[in-house]
Amino acid sequence: MGLEKIICEVLVVGGGVAGMSAALTAAREGAYTLLVEKNGFPGGAAVTGLHRFICGLYAHGMGMPDHTLNEGIAPEICARLKVLAPDKAVLPRGKVYVLPYTTGNLISVFRSLSEAEKQLDILYNTKTVSVKTEKHIITAVTVRGLDGEYDIAPRVVIDCSGDAIVVQLSGARYQLSPPHQRQLAGYTFRVKGLRDVDDIVALRVPYCLAQAVAEKKMPSYLKFTTFTPGDDQDEGYCRLNILPVVAGERNKQARKDALFVHSYLCKVLPVFRHSSIAEMSPEVLDREGPRVCGEYTLSADDVVNARKFPDGVVKNAWPIELWDQEKGVRYQYLHPGDYYEIPLRCLKAQDISNLYCAGRCISVSHEALGSTRVMGTCISLGEQAGREAAK
Ligand SMILES: Cc1cc2nc3c(=O)[nH]c(=O)nc-3n(C[C@H](O)[C@H](O)[C@H](O)COP(=O)(O)OP(=O)(O)OC[C@H]3O[C@@H](n4cnc5c(N)ncnc54)[C@H](O)[C@@H]3O)c2cc1C
Repeated sequence: MGLEKIICEVLVVGGGVAGMSAALTAAREGAYTLLVEKNGFPGGAAVTGLHRFICGLYAHGMGMPDHTLNEGIAPEICARLKVLAPDKAVLPRGKVYVLPYTTGNLISVFRSLSEAEKQLDILYNTKTVSVKTEKHIITAVTVRGLDGEYDIAPRVVIDCSGDAIVVQLSGARYQLSPPHQRQLAGYTFRVKGLRDVDDIVALRVPYCLAQAVAEKKMPSYLKFTTFTPGDDQDEGYCRLNILPVVAGERNKQARKDALFVHSYLCKVLPVFRHSSIAEMSPEVLDREGPRVCGEYTLSADDVVNARKFPDGVVKNAWPIELWDQEKGVRYQYLHPGDYYEIPLRCLKAQDISNLYCAGRCISVSHEALGSTRVMGTCISLGEQAGREAAK
């Protein structure tokens, strides 16, 4: 790839779950597709967030689901994960159902699926740095890889960067809530050496941190910390739910908060006493960021009223899961068995004729994003953007 200018039919920016699905689909539809990803691996937040469950794949309130809401690449990924980990079955989590996975298996699935596609090339460790537009069309995208900078001339671009990077660099309009209204961001660490983990630990962790906050021993947002048991008996995941914008370097602050919370839990909860931090997320992850101004903006009403559209391309039944800075998490569920549709227009940029978006940066309101951003939905959004872009 030492060429100065690369020509492709479809350029996908970002290799998270949405980008991988978009690129695989576009290539399968016959379009020569290039994907650029700044990390050295696929999966994006699904990997760096140390998540454990794929949400948004199934209907809820209808008993244990035996199929995904959307057909296509979502069930294909689930089937591949099942082969790698036959013991990981669909689980109820409160009112909804999720699929447990390991990040290593998800990376393997994406690698094997992408290596099988002749029409797909992936440039890892490559960052999109600028975008050239002429008359509302993207004509070139400049990327910086390990061997320098070069230009890509695509017919169509799909922005799957999570943070709407192409949208921003192209000058297309986007929506972004003011910092104080944005949903809490997340930072996760994995703990080993726990003793006697039971179901109550998930309640004890936020309870004792809320007490510490009330006693002014730590900042208020740390009371929203959650705990999930891991696969091993002595393992667990703590997720800090933190302010998305802070003064200074937020990854550094998050690591400091994680160390502080862990040492506090070691002091007050016997289950943590002999534990240590085995792994930390490499970065803070945003639940909410910039979203393209598309041809339609999905609203909270559309979600809770289970609205269907003539150009509906993705079904979703995940509740609106809003992580408010003052109140913590609130869920607004659809009626059991119901789902809403996401119209194709939410994936099309209003201002740039050859630009689509998929994943976290599609055209949705602050509230609707609380439902559309989960991984299962992002996978199907990527698939639909890839299909459309390849036409
Ligand atoms: C705290 C938290 C907890 C969550 N928990 C869950 C959960 O348990 N289950 C669930 O289903 N969902 C969960 N989610 C939501 C989910 O992880 C994400 O919304 C989803 O993975 C987004 O996928 P995506 O492909 O749109 O974006 P991302 O996964 O963010 O992928 C974007 C990709 O683009 C790349 N990129 C960015 N900029 C550039 C650039 N300039 N050039 C090249 N590449 C670039 C990034 O490296 C990344 O790989 C959670 C989110 C958060 C924040």
